[in-house]
Amino acid sequence: MDTTELGKRVLAGERRALARAITLVESGRADHRDQATALLEQVARAGRQALRIGLSGTPGVGKSTFIESFGLMLTGRGLRVAVLAVDPSSSRSGGSILGDKTRMDRLSRDPNAFIRPSPSQTHLGGVARRSREAVALCEAAGYDVVLIETVGVGQSETVVSEMSDLFLLLLAPAGGDELQGVKRGIMEMADLILVNKADGDLKPAATRTCADYSGALRLLRKRPQDPDGFPKAMMVSAIEEDGLEDCWAQMQALTDWRKDSGHWTGRRAAQAEYWFSEEVRQGLLAQIESGAAKAQMQRLGLLVAQGRMTPSAAAREMLGQHLRA
Ligand code: GDP
Repeated sequence: MDTTELGKRVLAGERRALARAITLVESGRADHRDQATALLEQVARAGRQALRIGLSGTPGVGKSTFIESFGLMLTGRGLRVAVLAVDPSSSRSGGSILGDKTRMDRLSRDPNAFIRPSPSQTHLGGVARRSREAVALCEAAGYDVVLIETVGVGQSETVVSEMSDLFLLLLAPAGGDELQGVKRGIMEMADLILVNKADGDLKPAATRTCADYSGALRLLRKRPQDPDGFPKAMMVSAIEEDGLEDCWAQMQALTDWRKDSGHWTGRRAAQAEYWFSEEVRQGLLAQIESGAAKAQMQRLGLLVAQGRMTPSAAAREMLGQHLRA
């Protein structure tokens, strides 16, 4: 099938075509890259937009359970839902945290849901670009909501928030009464903090944790992209499917406000620029890590290590030779 035909089928919402298109953007081969670029250009012209929801949380917090319950609630409302994962661990450890095929069993059988595990890649940059392109393909295929899941590994949250309209942080009820060492930077990215497992014996702890985070969020600097009351912390139970409707109502309220106030479009524009510059940066990095440039890097590196050249002089020489042209 040629790329144009594949693009048409993606736009027609054919799942197999979507899966094939994602495989194409995940490929590292140069000729595939050319085809993928053309395909992405073609489908972008349709101008379709989904609600992109990023979701992060440490292993065991209930991400897959939440995505399954939440996803089924959305498909129950007639929405089409795609689930993608950004999992930089999958290549590093040989075992993916998020890629397990048995997860989200019920959702994966739902004809209105599409689930795709994380591409395996040697570095986060590669996973990021492929996931971002997969998001664009899901949008073109007419999905209403794209959920992008990640674990709190390295920079993966930043990467996911840069491809999301909304960012959710999933937490478990804390045993003690201190905040669970959630990094400030990650809290600052969140639009909603969801304290999961607010059921049974864990309910009192969940209530305390939720109150703690509500307090912590109030201390953060107000962001221009938020109406009053956001970001906010809420309780959910993914297992008992409790609080999910309210969670969706909050996401819609926030989305509507951002659309009306122009922040939605503004954020998407800023994200597009971010990804453009990231890709240029990575392209340049790839250039210095291959071919003649690599040998030159090694030669200069050795001179620096031997103290025969300063790091700055060597860097200037390297940049002058390879990149200034
Ligand atoms: P993930 O690693 O973040 O994807 O977490 P999972 O969805 O695999 O859930 C980890 C464990 O927490 C499983 O044993 C789930 O059954 C349990 N779990 C998930 N959601 C809830 C919940 O809402 N309440 C309770 N009590 N347990 C939950």
